[in-house]
Amino acid sequence: MPWRAQLGKIARPLAAERAKRTKLLAALRWLVPSAVAASGGALIAGISEAYGLELSLGAYAAGFVVLVALPTLFAASVLARGLWRAWQPIELDRPRLAAWTAFVWLATFTLAWAMFQGTWVLAGMTAFKPMSMSFAEPLLAVAAALALVILSRPTVRLFAWLYAKLDRRLTLTPWRIAIGTIVKTLIAGYLIWHWLVKPRVGTLDLSVFVSPLLGIVGLIAVHVAWHRVVRARRIVGAALGGAAVLALALALFAWQLRPNATLTIWGERPLAGLAIDKLFDLDAIRADISLAAYRPIEMPGAPHRDIVLITIDTVRADHTPPYGGKAEMPLLRELAAKGVVFEWAFSPSNVTRRSIPSMVTGLAPNRVRGRVVGWALRIDPRHVLLAERMQAGGYETAGFVCCYGFWGKAFRTGLQRGLQHLEIEPIGIKLASQARAWLLAREKRPNNKPLFLWMHILEPHGWQALGAPRNDDERKRFYDRALTAADVAATQLMTAFADRKPESAPIVIIASDHGEALGEHGQPFHSTDLYNAQIHVPFVIAGPGIKQGRISETVSLTDLTPTILELAGFEPPKGLDGRSLADLATGRRASTENGVAFAAMIKDRSNPGGITAVLRGPWKLISNGSALELYNVHDDPGERVNYAVSQPLVFGELRRLLQQRTSDGVRSPFD
Ligand SMILES: [Zn+2]
Repeated sequence: MPWRAQLGKIARPLAAERAKRTKLLAALRWLVPSAVAASGGALIAGISEAYGLELSLGAYAAGFVVLVALPTLFAASVLARGLWRAWQPIELDRPRLAAWTAFVWLATFTLAWAMFQGTWVLAGMTAFKPMSMSFAEPLLAVAAALALVILSRPTVRLFAWLYAKLDRRLTLTPWRIAIGTIVKTLIAGYLIWHWLVKPRVGTLDLSVFVSPLLGIVGLIAVHVAWHRVVRARRIVGAALGGAAVLALALALFAWQLRPNATLTIWGERPLAGLAIDKLFDLDAIRADISLAAYRPIEMPGAPHRDIVLITIDTVRADHTPPYGGKAEMPLLRELAAKGVVFEWAFSPSNVTRRSIPSMVTGLAPNRVRGRVVGWALRIDPRHVLLAERMQAGGYETAGFVCCYGFWGKAFRTGLQRGLQHLEIEPIGIKLASQARAWLLAREKRPNNKPLFLWMHILEPHGWQALGAPRNDDERKRFYDRALTAADVAATQLMTAFADRKPESAPIVIIASDHGEALGEHGQPFHSTDLYNAQIHVPFVIAGPGIKQGRISETVSLTDLTPTILELAGFEPPKGLDGRSLADLATGRRASTENGVAFAAMIKDRSNPGGITAVLRGPWKLISNGSALELYNVHDDPGERVNYAVSQPLVFGELRRLLQQRTSDGVRSPFD
């Protein structure tokens, strides 16, 4: 074989190898700007989330943000640049590029507008039936999109003709087109938000979008700068990449060695919290703690009676019989006649996701930590709940509750913790029948454990399902009918205990998580203010050992957990904000004028927050951050006469009390 052929045989694979390696290197080099820009964007997003936290917490929070933002921004950048290469928009002449951009921009808004209008038309035709809506909506979307496709070319031609005229005066560089589009979008977005969305949906917590938006801005900024700082590329790349790696290391360090800091960030920061929520198993942190750690202390000689807690969603006290209301609620009427009625009980907040966690932890609403998920609050795994304490104390625990969004396993709210047996059913009467069947089966077997059963009924929350009220009278009638439905369900549950002797009957507690405004103070529903309509709730306890009578002392449903624990024969746990009312319920102590209740609206989701209220005896002070209102709710339950000026002494005392309770919210409940 000639030497040339010999050499060729060796050289050819080598050359192929080298070519392959060069291609790989080129591909990697192509990815470098995306990696650097993603690092820059992720760091900016991280710093924006760290803002306002103390140094170490802030550094960890930034790290967690980088953990999600870095890969996301990198993927976004690679995708955008890849699409840019595939589209080659530069090949279009300038007026046509401007025309296409303008058409896509316009089509986006048209499609959104068509879907918005169409949804309302469809809703009118289908009475908002989810199934009919979901079949009709895709057809609408496809029809609107097809119409836009058909119109695209003629419209683009027209636009291109117009832009060609403009281009003669003002050169339409791709940059100018891009900036013009961004400016147009910002203006249109603001106008739509201000004129169309905000008046209809009210407050929305948009803080969750701040750091992602800053991250995207950072990504674009670094990409732009990359083409200008050709010489400093290595330094910029190394600095941003190094900082991002350091941030990642901090996040991993916090996750492994600082679980408390990790959980604090989880509850307080939107994006870093999302990263922690998605990446780490919070329940595993919880599972490490044994039941024994929060076993309640036995009270010597105290019996462990069966306890049935019935919470009914959205019940304002003044519509129920024990409080002079007209609603037909025979069970509640009977229990109130046999047991103790707390005349002035207040819910800790005006929305379920803030009230219920306060009620089952015994902590003030502003000291419960967690993270909003859907309509509920995912409770910080470090909190110990009533059912867990009861279970640790030797009770058999069961929950019969309305709502998957609050108790369903998939939502991981933590509210189901400690409930050994759990059934979820939204329709009250069905739920009660299930509970009754379970109870009857339980009654048949020998029980060596006392029972703690919690039922949460939803009916009054959905009273509007009975139809659209034409006036306030009808509004009240519909609402009262929903209260009756809840009472019927509770009665169905209680029939399971019909065969019990009075001394072995369960202690029954009926309460609500918040009220409902039916036009008071201009409000049609709840979650909007802290006037009595939304937070004065029924609270009735009846059963063996409970006295008969009415308690005028002001109490809060934050007191529910220590009260139930003491009624169950345990010492009320230390370190809670609520106090046990067992002494009042059993008649060991008489009412005083100094009972205190605190309520707060916590800013999240659709709740603007910022409103707090404190009650002491008959006096109630409400603060919306700037204005203060003082009422005597015993004489003026509708809260019409503001005594803020005419009662300076009471005003001053309650203001101090409110300031103290509000600032207590900052204190960690886990120290
Ligand atoms: Zn509720």
